[in-house]
Amino acid sequence: NLSSLDGDTIAAIATAPGRGGVGIVRLSGPRARAIGEHLCGKGLTPRHAHFCHFSDGGGQLLDSGIALYFPAPNSFTGEDVVELQGHGGPVILDLLLRECAVAGARNARPGEFSERAFLNDKLDLAQAEAIADLINSTTEQAARSATRSLQGAFSREIDELVAAVTRLRVYVEAAIDFPEEEIDFLADGKVAEQVTALEAQLQGVLRQARQGSLLQEGMKLVIAGRPNAGKSSLLNALAGQDTAIVTPIEGTTRDVLREHIQIDGMPLHIVDTAGLRESADAVEQEGIRRAWQEMASADRILLVVDGSSPDADTASAALWPEKDERLGAELPVTVIHNKADLSGREPAVLRQGDDVIIELSALTGAGMDLLREHLKQCMGYSESAGGSFSARRRHLEALEEAARFLAAGQAQLDEAGAGELLAEDLRQCHNALGRITGAISSDELLGEIFSSFCIGK
Ligand code: GDP
Ligand code: ZN
Repeated sequence: NLSSLDGDTIAAIATAPGRGGVGIVRLSGPRARAIGEHLCGKGLTPRHAHFCHFSDGGGQLLDSGIALYFPAPNSFTGEDVVELQGHGGPVILDLLLRECAVAGARNARPGEFSERAFLNDKLDLAQAEAIADLINSTTEQAARSATRSLQGAFSREIDELVAAVTRLRVYVEAAIDFPEEEIDFLADGKVAEQVTALEAQLQGVLRQARQGSLLQEGMKLVIAGRPNAGKSSLLNALAGQDTAIVTPIEGTTRDVLREHIQIDGMPLHIVDTAGLRESADAVEQEGIRRAWQEMASADRILLVVDGSSPDADTASAALWPEKDERLGAELPVTVIHNKADLSGREPAVLRQGDDVIIELSALTGAGMDLLREHLKQCMGYSESAGGSFSARRRHLEALEEAARFLAAGQAQLDEAGAGELLAEDLRQCHNALGRITGAISSDELLGEIFSSFCIGK
């Protein structure tokens, strides 16, 4: 009876739910091979494709297909791994998975295969996250950058930063250990030079990481304005032709519509809100309340005004007195003067103080290219820099924290020549960087990261 053996072996359906030509059940752990051989009814040779009849313990045939065995440590997880490739139907795969459980495997938690790969040093944390980002990518550019992160492009940048911080720490701490020489050590300018070089290096990585994170998370754009200003037309114009609709999702109310599109590879999440106006109607009031809520979390708001109406110039101001009290003064707003075909104005980007106004026509499409360019500019998105590697908000925060400690350390050095304080700041900087690749991690952090993965990954 296999189920009485010891060990923690996990199993999951690795292919997407639904029907397909092939479906895969994956096993990882010390008993993966025994369970695989139990189902296949024969011995499994490492790294060979075996054609097998998968049967349950009573000898009942479940399916036939291919079995693969990858012995530890040369497998994805670093443990013994067996893959059973059967027919891709949900019932068949469930039967196979159930038989794995009968034979002693436990159902894997989301991301548990990747987590084991991380714990066995097959991948670092940023690479493991890149797997999930690759699977979740919504544009080609996002997928390419995630692949590069998975190959270690981002991790190598971090490792180089860590190596530089380590060299500096050794130097500074040696200086502290020989107090009679500390002053000379720190005053000879070499340390200050290295801190400055490190800062430049860190800022460079941070810039790339911002692009990488934008590619994964995208820009949130909210379209607001009075009824009939042309909000829905603008949404359609943005989503049409030059841009590909990835997944249109109907909002939960009739008043908020969401579209996911891309501009030159930058994912854009667009929310078309209900018209903003005073209303006694309860449903409409709810729509308006949601519109304000969406605006509060937007990267940019397009305030659409009917540019052909006589009060176009004051219309946005009239809508806007509420904004300060509702959202605070710093709102990223671009005013769209729509219906340029009616107003007779040339498509253009105009600046009035801090405000940007774009003249365009959602109906004819004139000026839409100006809007697309403007949106890329707002996010600092450039196609060429866009693809070096993928990153997450978590990584940006860690990099920013590392940069803060480095700047603080430099200030200590400049003002007080304080070696001990610089050493402490460098240690903190090192810690922040270590969290990115998982050299420093907690169960809590790992739980948070891997629980968002899909099962079987
Ligand atoms: P919303 O209520 O703000 O979503 O406005 P709609 O997009 O539904 O548009 C209201 C009306 O204005 C429709 O009849 C549109 O065809 C028209 N419209 C929208 N944009 C333009 C434009 O650029 N030029 C012209 N001439 N009409 C427009
Ligand atoms: Zn509309």
